[in-house]
Amino acid sequence: PSHIAVLTSGGDAPGMNAAIRAVVRSAVYYGKKVSGVYNGYEGLIDGTFEELDSRSVKYILNHGGTFLKSARSQRFRTPEGRKQAHENLVKAGIDALIVIGGDGSFTGAKIFSEEFDFQVIGVPGTIDNDLYGTDFTIGFDTATNTAIECIDKIRDTASSHDRLFLVEVMGRDSGFIALRSAIAAGALEVIMPENSITYDQLYQAIERAGQNKKFSNIIVVAEGNKLGNIFEIADHLKAKFPHLDIKVTILGHLQRGGSPTVFDRVLASKLGVAAVEGLLIGRNKVMAGVMHNQVIYTPFEEAITRRAYINPELIRINKILTI
Ligand code: ATP
Repeated sequence: PSHIAVLTSGGDAPGMNAAIRAVVRSAVYYGKKVSGVYNGYEGLIDGTFEELDSRSVKYILNHGGTFLKSARSQRFRTPEGRKQAHENLVKAGIDALIVIGGDGSFTGAKIFSEEFDFQVIGVPGTIDNDLYGTDFTIGFDTATNTAIECIDKIRDTASSHDRLFLVEVMGRDSGFIALRSAIAAGALEVIMPENSITYDQLYQAIERAGQNKKFSNIIVVAEGNKLGNIFEIADHLKAKFPHLDIKVTILGHLQRGGSPTVFDRVLASKLGVAAVEGLLIGRNKVMAGVMHNQVIYTPFEEAITRRAYINPELIRINKILTI
């Protein structure tokens, strides 16, 4: 390619700026032109591109969010919208695209790439860590660090009053954030899509804690868990243990913000460079990821359709440590 465009799409994640910076700087390093597209796929359709140079991305490495903004685009789901996007790219002389986002963004990227024979590479940017083809997605480490910082604070108040706190963390269909935060914060239990825990098991865990004279407890709840809404779960527990002081905290969008951790900055830097280098060696319709510390490229088809599994070893460790 001679001119690469980069955009961020879907939910924002801390470290996206670091990834944009890595794309821009490595494109410049290899003597390519590079443009930033504002507002994700919406910007492709509206033609809101801006040519960037190495200085355009100064002082963004440490900032959360994405300076290119992100958006969900209904128009890009239509053939007319994608045709307009393609025309704008061609008009600007752009011949390759890097999409930083999640599986929805890669689905759109794959369709677009096939329709117009356009070279596209994806970079996994989502706090959920729910993508096949990479051990970690950009933003996940920062989000879990934010979550445990909050849970640690909740634990201070929980232990001062012998309270049971249910803390909801993000993760629409997966428990990656929930399980890691539960282990890192020493939670009593974790309720997530992957462990299909029952009320009886929860009751037993709480009773066991009481027998062990553990009166302040945290239960981490993934928003996408199958047991139910966090308030319903709290009502069930209140009915079963009327003597317990049970509180609910939803961390919500806190988890999306903040300065990216060292881990996320380094991961984003690696993957941004890998995306550009992938384009240069002719890779197409793939996502750049890191597995076992090695950069690998996974076809969009697989990244979208295969499920990213939680490491069973983490589930095992958590079981041992919550005894
Ligand atoms: P996150 O996991 O953080 O939500 P995501 O990339 O999965 O990120 P989505 O909202 O699912 O977020 O997708 C982002 C955008 O990708 C959509 O708004 C849409 O423009 C585009 N997209 C998704 N699916 C398709 C599709 N089937 N065809 C065309 N475009 C699509």
